[in-house]
Amino acid sequence: MLMQDVIIIGCGIVGAAAAFELAKYQVRVTVLEKENDVANGTTKANSAILHAGYDPLPGSLMARLNVRGVALAKKLCQKLDVPYRACGSLVLAFSPEECATLETLKARGEANGVPGLEILSGEEVRRREPNLSEKVLAALYAPTAAICSPWEYCLALAETAVRNGAELHLETEVTGIEKAGGLWLVHTNRGDFSARYLINAAGVCADAVHDMAAPHEFSIRPSRGEYYLLDKAEGRRVGCTVFQCPNQDGKGVLVSPTVHGNLIVGPNACPVVGEDTSTTAEGLAFVREKALKSVPSVAFGQSIRNFAGVRAHAAETSDFILQEKDGFVDAAGICSPGLSAAPAIAEYLVELLKNAGLTLEEKPDFFCQRRRVRFKELSPAQRAELVQENPAYGRVICRCETVTEGEILDALHGPIPPRSVDAVKRRVNAGMGRCQGGFCGPRVVEILARELGLWPEQIQQDKNGTWLLCGETKGGSAYV
Ligand SMILES: Cc1cc2nc3c(=O)[nH]c(=O)nc-3n(C[C@H](O)[C@H](O)[C@H](O)COP(=O)(O)OP(=O)(O)OC[C@H]3O[C@@H](n4cnc5c(N)ncnc54)[C@H](O)[C@@H]3O)c2cc1C
Repeated sequence: MLMQDVIIIGCGIVGAAAAFELAKYQVRVTVLEKENDVANGTTKANSAILHAGYDPLPGSLMARLNVRGVALAKKLCQKLDVPYRACGSLVLAFSPEECATLETLKARGEANGVPGLEILSGEEVRRREPNLSEKVLAALYAPTAAICSPWEYCLALAETAVRNGAELHLETEVTGIEKAGGLWLVHTNRGDFSARYLINAAGVCADAVHDMAAPHEFSIRPSRGEYYLLDKAEGRRVGCTVFQCPNQDGKGVLVSPTVHGNLIVGPNACPVVGEDTSTTAEGLAFVREKALKSVPSVAFGQSIRNFAGVRAHAAETSDFILQEKDGFVDAAGICSPGLSAAPAIAEYLVELLKNAGLTLEEKPDFFCQRRRVRFKELSPAQRAELVQENPAYGRVICRCETVTEGEILDALHGPIPPRSVDAVKRRVNAGMGRCQGGFCGPRVVEILARELGLWPEQIQQDKNGTWLLCGETKGGSAYV
């Protein structure tokens, strides 16, 4: 068993950002993730907004790390080729009381250091966003809010960490932790690992992981948010992210463009047990009703998918829990704006490790660049050149999104190869279009089986247990 300097438990956006940050230094890092892909927890199912930072209370960790995180995200997304759009956001007010809330949010944002906040009248805001309700009295505009691809952001950070020497173990669930001979010994379903320092970035399971190593201190109260994703025909219904005034359940229902050209609508907030990501008729009806209050013309008939994500609220505090004791670091209670704050959370975690004695010597050859072929975005001449070089780019697998076999093969030979149909979707967008994989799904299964040397019956839709085909597997490898 090779001793590591740091083991990170969980590879959502927080674990991936921490691995990325640590990979800048001469530190041996291992990431343990229980699922069969990175970004397979809350990080893949959220609103995908990089919040400006007017929501969290001034002086909180959340406020500080949110504002720094969005600034870092802008540069990171550019460097790592992550879809990102600086679209800005609006918070709408429908009553005089809500107009007063806008003033509070503006003052809070200014105290947090959010630049460019502005309150617009109903007429001004409808000039910018003609599809907003006539009933909107005023709105808070935040120009620094942005949208991104959350799973590609996480994947890009994790891939860069791996390229720079971090080890990633998927399908490796931490089941126990003990301190032995001054080191942390981590038990998993795939054997033991040991390290001088641990980072608990286990999202909804962060309380359970904490309790494996230390006395109980906090409890995660999962809260589910359900969404509609609408076809690209609705993608321009609004130009920026449109919120309503926040309430006790959080930031409320939003209507927003996505970086992939769709419209996202949601979420509600419903307490659940564990990682329950089912959607419900009641939850979706609530989302629909609230969204129509902001944007009455949203055409829900264009819905192509419903999904849900689970927030990891801590029962004891509304702030992030970022703390170190005895070389064990918690990154817990990372609810919204965790995606926005992630790179700043990672910096904070590394600072905690440094204060706990971890030596941080910079790696002179840290490599921080990532580019992938996006066939759809190329000019006809560039496409022709690419197909000439490699005919696999000439075979379109996903017709809705124009994703080629060449792009899928690139992903399969990348630093964190996909193992499931949805893992391919998260890397190259195959299956993200109007038909939601109806056409390309079987072809992606075929390519995965061929390239991974498996039978098609062994390929899963997403997490372990999501089998697509039944039949008799012949055992061994299908494509030897
Ligand atoms: C409905 C909703 C909307 C949101 N909208 C936004 C938004 O617009 N903007 C924003 O900034 N934030 C938003 N958030 C919050 C954001 O999504 C989260 O803060 C962020 O994704 C948390 O990342 P994480 O890495 O902490 O958790 P996760 O992504 O859940 O990652 C934790 C990982 O740990 C793994 N794990 C758990 N237990 C173990 C174990 N025992 N062994 C090994 N691995 C383990 C899990 O499999 C998982 O992959 C939203 C959240 C929700 C639910």
